[in-house]
Amino acid sequence: RDLLHRWETLIPTSHPARAAPGRIYRPEDLRRGIADGELVCHFQPKVGRADGALTGVECLVRWQHPADGLVFPDQFVPLAERSGLIDDLTQAVLEQALHQARAWQDTDLRLDVAVNVSMANLLALDFPNLVADRLAAAGMAPERLVLEVTESQLMRDRVTSLDILTRLRLKRVGLSIDDFGTGHSSLAQLRDVPFSELKIDRGFVHGAAGDPALQAMFDASLGIARQLGLKTVAEGVEDPDDWLYVRGTDCDMIQGYLIGRPMPGPDLPGWRADWARR
Ligand code: C2E
Ligand code: CA
Ligand code: CA
Ligand code: CA
Repeated sequence: RDLLHRWETLIPTSHPARAAPGRIYRPEDLRRGIADGELVCHFQPKVGRADGALTGVECLVRWQHPADGLVFPDQFVPLAERSGLIDDLTQAVLEQALHQARAWQDTDLRLDVAVNVSMANLLALDFPNLVADRLAAAGMAPERLVLEVTESQLMRDRVTSLDILTRLRLKRVGLSIDDFGTGHSSLAQLRDVPFSELKIDRGFVHGAAGDPALQAMFDASLGIARQLGLKTVAEGVEDPDDWLYVRGTDCDMIQGYLIGRPMPGPDLPGWRADWARR
């Protein structure tokens, strides 16, 4: 995983080396970074399995640290959740993601944009209105936005979270259950939350070609999604064997390093042209 992270930074030449993975940050470091506009969004393509068409992107936050280089979210998102900074982080990411989506749309590239939200965001009752305000400010239709949700130990107030998710869905914002099949992302959530999309965790995708047990779980996930009328995404399509396997399923969308790495927003139109020529 570390190696692949570094690989992301090798491709776009403008990136400095990634930060030392062991570096620990303090809440005040991150607070300053957010205030100084150091969070940057990279975007990873989501393409149709059957036709390879680019229809959406997932927004993945990075911290462009002045001394340490590019810091990846595993090193600061949990800190943000613990130290009350997650609302500010999510707001900054949402704003950038929608702004970028609008810029693409203005050049005729219409993409769904997925933003990761933390369960800790789903404790703030004004979150649905905040999302609606940001959409309106960017001039984007709510259907263009997908919020990717992973359950975590931080789900302190289940009733409030479910209420917030339902109100977002009523505003026609897409909701995706992320990392489906892992401990935190379960059948119980599918029963309670009006999701529109299911993302099969890369643990069931990468390596599935040679592993009948993974294939069985992948198929079962697709079956549940189909019966509930959810769009499906296979994440972590990393090598040609993964692709060969997923291609033979009826999964709707695929995402992974083999298709495209997370990249700065302005790189995406050029990437799309390359991909279309393949
Ligand atoms: P995630 O939502 O499951 O995002 C997918 C992660 O897998 C990303 O790592 C992505 O770069 C990586 N990935 C994509 N394709 C492949 C592949 O083919 N193989 C492998 N091995 N990995 C692949 P990243 O960007 O480091 O993000 C890690 C996690 O941090 C995300 O997992 C998400 O839970 C969280 N995160 C990222 N951005 C945000 C954000 O803006 N807000 C919040 N709350 N969480 C975020
Ligand atoms: Ca995600
Ligand atoms: Ca995921
Ligand atoms: Ca994950």
